Amino acid sequence: MSVAQSDPALLDKLVMANRILYDQGVVDGFGHISVRHDSVPGVFLLSCNRAPGLVVRGDIDCFDLDGASVSDSSNRPYLERFIHSEIYRARADVIAVVHSHSPNVIPFGVTGQRLKPIFHMAGFLGGGTAHYDIRDASGNTDLLVRNGELGKYLATALGAHSCVLMRGHGSTTVGASIEQVVYRAIYAEVNARLQSQALGLGPVTYLSEEEAQLAATAIDGQIGRCWDLWQRRIGPIES
Ligand SMILES: [Zn+2]
Repeated sequence: MSVAQSDPALLDKLVMANRILYDQGVVDGFGHISVRHDSVPGVFLLSCNRAPGLVVRGDIDCFDLDGASVSDSSNRPYLERFIHSEIYRARADVIAVVHSHSPNVIPFGVTGQRLKPIFHMAGFLGGGTAHYDIRDASGNTDLLVRNGELGKYLATALGAHSCVLMRGHGSTTVGASIEQVVYRAIYAEVNARLQSQALGLGPVTYLSEEEAQLAATAIDGQIGRCWDLWQRRIGPIES
């Protein structure tokens, strides 16, 4: 199967999403974003082993739900592609996935505290984040989700949440589109920073579940405005 069979616009959007996540400080040399193939069930698009800020069209490969490449390429894949494959297997509603090590989220993962919506921009965190500790599944490891078994464990921990914190590692966020998951990954990091600051000042009043739901619905209709701005900062991408 060739990645050329996917919609070129989707491919371009995935490349742009990689660049935006780097520009917005969610990913650095590590971290990745994937999206389901637009016409082949059980297949998703993900860059090869490249820093997201450098990803171009030719880096995007297709993978099946076992995390195996189904592209005609010899590109080296990301070690942690199983994060994506197992979440797509477990969650039919998920269209795009971001995995990152964004720094402000890390303190929550290691203390077992949940991220909760501190302002309306993070309504998607209503109900709080899920928590995953790789040590519970596999003892002492290098913390990386290197195989399908660990990916399954992560997907189970994620459950129906929009974001799962990974102890001593980072986080994984899911969404119903590239734009939505990029938005969520950016604002999970912003919310983490603000939540840490607020907790240092005193007891915090978070959005109620109903407020969070109403805010998330309102924001979802306006994500395009943010996307246009983030995209403008990147400019044209070389092929
Ligand atoms: Zn990672």
